[in-house]
Amino acid sequence: MSTHAALTVPTIGELSIPTGLFINNEFRASSSGQTVPTINPANGETLLEVSHASQEDVDEAVRAARKAFETAWGNNVQASERGALLNKLADLMERDAEKLAALESLDSGKGIRIVREIDLPDSVACLRYYAGLADKFFGQTIPHFGKDKFVYTIHQPIGVCGQIIPWNYPLLMWAWKVAPALAAGCCIVMKPSELTPLSALYMCQLVKEAGIPAGVFNTVPGLGATTGDAISRHMDIDKVAFTGSVMTGRRISIAAAESNLKKVTLELGGKSPSLIFESANIEEAADWSALGIWFNSGQDCTAGSRIYVHESIYETFIAALKKKAEACAIGQAGLFVCSSDYDETTSFGPLISEAQRDKVLGYISSGVDEGARLVAGGKKWSKSGNGYWVEPTIIADVKPHFKVVQEEIFGPVVVISKFSTESEALTLANSSTFGLAAAVHTNDARQAMRVTAALDAGTVWCNQYGMLHPGVPFGGFKMSGVGRELGTYGLEAYTQVKAVHQNLAMDMQWPI
Ligand code: NAD
Repeated sequence: MSTHAALTVPTIGELSIPTGLFINNEFRASSSGQTVPTINPANGETLLEVSHASQEDVDEAVRAARKAFETAWGNNVQASERGALLNKLADLMERDAEKLAALESLDSGKGIRIVREIDLPDSVACLRYYAGLADKFFGQTIPHFGKDKFVYTIHQPIGVCGQIIPWNYPLLMWAWKVAPALAAGCCIVMKPSELTPLSALYMCQLVKEAGIPAGVFNTVPGLGATTGDAISRHMDIDKVAFTGSVMTGRRISIAAAESNLKKVTLELGGKSPSLIFESANIEEAADWSALGIWFNSGQDCTAGSRIYVHESIYETFIAALKKKAEACAIGQAGLFVCSSDYDETTSFGPLISEAQRDKVLGYISSGVDEGARLVAGGKKWSKSGNGYWVEPTIIADVKPHFKVVQEEIFGPVVVISKFSTESEALTLANSSTFGLAAAVHTNDARQAMRVTAALDAGTVWCNQYGMLHPGVPFGGFKMSGVGRELGTYGLEAYTQVKAVHQNLAMDMQWPI
């Protein structure tokens, strides 16, 4: 029985929101009693104080997960039953969609319409995809040994998995991590971002209501350097799955290597290039490029943040993209934001924090100082008040060595320059330490095939941008990541393969 303090559940508007740790299907305060505030980025006000899990709390969550793995999950449950529970969880998400959308919008700043129409349905689709895949992913028989011997492989769940997720898609990243792990039979110790923990905490209630056994799924909110590090170094966690920055991914890899050499998968940053060739439909390319950079206010690991345009259409394309910047639906994000500016139809919200906003404004100044042309935006949104908006920004005529070209900005800032040949375009696109995504806009089919093959990126979109699906693998080349999420690759990442050799009639006489 837990000796920790029970928690009163606070409310925002009509929403009750748990703010504790979730271990063995129960909420409770952290052992230290410490909390971390979560802020509404649209107005800078504290929404709630959330428990901060200590090392001791992480230990307890891991013990709960280990026990559940050995007694109630993993090989103790048929894969189809795990799939049925995931489908039940998806049903509950759909039932509570409006509450989850309000919470996500408040905590992350994204427009509620975007959560309703994209983040939530995509999260539900991910749960349902892995619900269906749970009992369709298994080993092989290897019948190469005649009557003497029979060999087969078994896919077994890795065990207890730590999962550490970022703030830009709190619910969707939760779904991308949780769905394949549960489908594979793993148990979970989840750490949401300290900047956006609320939807992940709400989901804990639904996990319990869905009937997922106690201990299978646990949540330890807290800071990265403490709670996150305790997960990465834990000697009884078998794998850690992470989405976030390159710097943190490196720290997690080191901690995993220095502890029990746990398996690590990493989804990291990007500086994704779009190539606009002379045969492209300029208006269409500008629409997709606008989506690529301004969706989620540019806080997207796949943000199309570098655009290279053929010299013959360079100024025409820039003019078209400038019009898209001016048409961005900037505005107050969530429900309960008591402001006359609040508008449910807006899609372009604030950045996640004051620090992030100032960092993005600093990048814009550095681009201008290095000699680039500011075509659109470049400032705080005039109606920001105490919120953290930056205008949709275009910086043109950049050179490859500019800081704004080399570093991930993680805000609504796109840099543009021109090229004259396909080979120059490819050299520019591939001259990055990142390799998460890329796009090609061309109406020349052979060029499309050539260029998509030559781009260094885990995902390449041709004449579109940003489209993802739970059945299609996602992950990075180069420093953008290790391993893949989604699709069958995503389930494989939570399993380990055992090869079993059965001797049917094979003789062996010692010494050989
Ligand atoms: P971040 O690395 O600061 O934080 C991500 C998570 O890691 C948070 O939960 C944080 O608390 C935790 N963390 C921080 N320090 C830690 C440590 N030492 N040990 C363990 N955990 C720690 O990243 P962020 O600022 O939340 O997210 C933005 C970054 O994430 C961007 O660089 C972006 O490109 C990347 N990102 C990548 C993907 C992808 O799929 N490739 C998706 C979203 C975001």
